[in-house]
Amino acid sequence: MVYGQVFSQHSSGDCFINVNVGGFKQQMEHTVLQRFPQTRLGRLLCCSSKEAILDLCDDFSPSEMEFYFDRSPHFFCYVLNFYLTGKIHLADGLCVISFVQEIEYWGIKERHLDLCCSNKFYELMEVAGDKQWDQMSDEVQLHSSASSTEELSASEDNIEMFEGSWCADVRSNILDST
Ligand SMILES: [Zn+2]
Repeated sequence: MVYGQVFSQHSSGDCFINVNVGGFKQQMEHTVLQRFPQTRLGRLLCCSSKEAILDLCDDFSPSEMEFYFDRSPHFFCYVLNFYLTGKIHLADGLCVISFVQEIEYWGIKERHLDLCCSNKFYELMEVAGDKQWDQMSDEVQLHSSASSTEELSASEDNIEMFEGSWCADVRSNILDST
């Protein structure tokens, strides 16, 4: 069965897909999704194999033309609004990091934030960025100790690897002192 053909057959007749996000069902028109071809749902329409479809959603039923996503139905309301208006808004009860993860999942870009929310978004990101920086320095330390263990078993002639390790140590020291 060629799934691309299923889509084109359907697009000549009933031009919609059924989206099921965490139990929340919504019928969405092809024309609405095609306005944003880079988004996850827009890309779904271009899939020509089952594998490609399952790369974009968690499960699907070809007979029902229903696509399942294990994501927050609450946030999906904001995604729906994005398809209708071309703008995304910060979601109530969602921290900025989760918000970024959600829009990345759905393939929506930060530049689609509406003006009313964009200033707040960048302020929150700055605060979150400072906190993430602390976490990152821990990760660098972990990484550098892991790579030096690898290097002990590697050839000593490999100067590049030692240089890399030296840089990583210095970097983690710099990060620690900030
Ligand atoms: Zn807004």
